[in-house]
Amino acid sequence: MKKREVLRLAGGRLLIVLALVVGLPLSLARAADESADVQRGGSAEETGSQQTVASTPVQAGAAIPDRLVVLTFDDSSKSHFTIVRPLLKEYGFGATFFITEGWDFAKNKTDYMTWDEIRQLHEDGFEIGNHTRDHLGITERTVGRLPEQLQAIADRCQEHGIPAPVSFAWPGNAWTPQAFDVLKQHGIVFARRGGAPEYPYEAGRGFAYQPGQDHPLLLPSAGDARPKWALQDLERAVQQARAGRIAILQFHGVPDTAHDWVSSSRVNFEAYLRYLQLQKCRVVSLRDLRRYVDVTQWPDDATTIIRQRQAELAAAADK
Ligand SMILES: [Zn+2]
Repeated sequence: MKKREVLRLAGGRLLIVLALVVGLPLSLARAADESADVQRGGSAEETGSQQTVASTPVQAGAAIPDRLVVLTFDDSSKSHFTIVRPLLKEYGFGATFFITEGWDFAKNKTDYMTWDEIRQLHEDGFEIGNHTRDHLGITERTVGRLPEQLQAIADRCQEHGIPAPVSFAWPGNAWTPQAFDVLKQHGIVFARRGGAPEYPYEAGRGFAYQPGQDHPLLLPSAGDARPKWALQDLERAVQQARAGRIAILQFHGVPDTAHDWVSSSRVNFEAYLRYLQLQKCRVVSLRDLRRYVDVTQWPDDATTIIRQRQAELAAAADK
């Protein structure tokens, strides 16, 4: 932690103590404390706690620190609001929530968030990303439906005072380069996939993002949390975040009451957050990477780095 951040943090805590002593409005002191907390995960600017930030072009070029971690949460799970939100605020971590109205989102408000709750996440400074209206797997066959799928979520965001998403997560982790231009036309600068094809889906494993090598619209998940995950699975993903590489983590509900095959328990999730804190990770949302990465630079061939990794894995398996 930088000295400036320590001072901010100390300042926030001091205000709380002062509030208790002299009767300052506690909410004001808490706000100062939370702003200090945000500094631990990145600057207030990065986490977008100022609403104007999302639409302001960000100049890339900051050096990528070691232990830079991106948290992402898919599928609009109710627990993102009830469990994940308060925990992330406690730790001062940034995150991206990928929103879809798929399954029975419209009627089932036990398992899925309301749009008011999604708006609240945005107002907290978290990023709201696009995960298509119907959770549509994007392939050569379905790519023609992508524009309306993207626009539907962007429209709902606008209705609720949320900026148009700049991040996208490929539903079901299916992807095709044929969708890149559509995503770009809709203002998407980052798109996250799973750990496949380098690792099989079932493994929940993946490689860290290598800026300049990975296409910004095909960012790998370094880890894709599953019910059987343990702390060592998280460690394996996070320890790759060094030497210019960034660990992007994929979660679903905590727990995921509608999709138990991708659920994480609260006990495990809290252990993951403690680990990230103890490792002094900088934990941000996907859009925050615009500070470090030139999103206009697309590699000539999006799959070169993927084939390289597959060859490395095959060679390692032969040994
Ligand atoms: Zn999904």
